[in-house]
Amino acid sequence: MQPKKNIVHLPVYQPGKPIDEVKRELGLTEVIKLASNENPFGYSPKAKEAILAAIDQVSIYPDGGAVELTAALSAQFGVEPNQIIFGAGSDEIIMMIARAFLSPGEETIYAVPTFPQYRHNAEVEGAVVIEVPVDETGTHDLKAMLAKVNDKTKVVWICNPNNPTGTMLTEKEVKDFMEAVPKHVLVVLDEAYAEYNVTDQYPDGFALLKQHKNIVLLRTFSKIYGLASLRIGYGVGHPDVIRSINQVREPFNTTTFAQKAALAAASDQAFIDFCRESNAKGIRQLQAKFDELGLPYFDAHGNFIMVDVKRSGAAVFQALLRKGIIIRHDPSWGYPTKIRVTVGSEEQNNKFLEALEQVLSEVTV
Ligand SMILES: *Cc1c(COP(=O)(O)O)cnc(C)c1O
Repeated sequence: MQPKKNIVHLPVYQPGKPIDEVKRELGLTEVIKLASNENPFGYSPKAKEAILAAIDQVSIYPDGGAVELTAALSAQFGVEPNQIIFGAGSDEIIMMIARAFLSPGEETIYAVPTFPQYRHNAEVEGAVVIEVPVDETGTHDLKAMLAKVNDKTKVVWICNPNNPTGTMLTEKEVKDFMEAVPKHVLVVLDEAYAEYNVTDQYPDGFALLKQHKNIVLLRTFSKIYGLASLRIGYGVGHPDVIRSINQVREPFNTTTFAQKAALAAASDQAFIDFCRESNAKGIRQLQAKFDELGLPYFDAHGNFIMVDVKRSGAAVFQALLRKGIIIRHDPSWGYPTKIRVTVGSEEQNNKFLEALEQVLSEVTV
């Protein structure tokens, strides 16, 4: 037996440690996970009602076309139903885009560091990956990315805000890029954290869609909507692009419960507003303490912040873990002294900051 040559070197995804395992291993009673950008406030009670009301549909296949949810979101965003596709998280949409658009030897461009699934799925398809480092502020270098585009380029991935750095490209920057990039290139604008935006600079992806056929927006119900375990996200684009993605979609790729919960969650604007405002406060709370501790950080436009702890990020990760706080550090980012922390509730943030201050005195520079 021989698997495809282009997958043998790929890592198997290593999830963050589950809270219960950390508790058991370290003998802790309280563990706070600020590692996966999950919503510390849970999810809309309306979504819970919708899931419970649908529970007897367990034995029935879901609506593969997600008709009701498509209708609701197309009305909300002012696009046609044939411009939306749903996936088992936006992760699955990334996989489907790679599958539909990338053939062996063709090129795809993304930033470093960014969301790892662009690279992973491109490599599964045997595409040639072109990596362009973010600039010193942690922001995509769109000029350098544009300079890498050639006749073989099929897909450019733009993560905005960028995970893990948290930085944001402005409307003008993305607009200028779309005007300059050749029409044969599909630009994927991953907006997993769009709903957290509190600036007036964030690009209007839906306006860009009206101007450019070669752009697809990715959104998810896993982050501000708090439905991560249900696995549902969506892509919005030109009907031709969405049809191509639909051609590689599995027939029943999202569940009834995910669709019902998403429908209810999308209509609960009060919950979204609460989460966005609490998150903005949480970012200010974290930044104020980082300032006091003299730790530099990148601009944060999602529900997480990347901070320079000025000593081994791996050691700080381990020391925080021993105190029951799970954050994220990944050597592949290329930032040995930075960590990424998800914005929690005010109380969780305080506990993290208290633990961090202790850890900084334990872990030497
Ligand atoms: C979390 C995340 C996603 C995907 O989340 P799903 O749970 O698969 O919808 C996609 N892109 C970025 C940048 C993310 O941070």
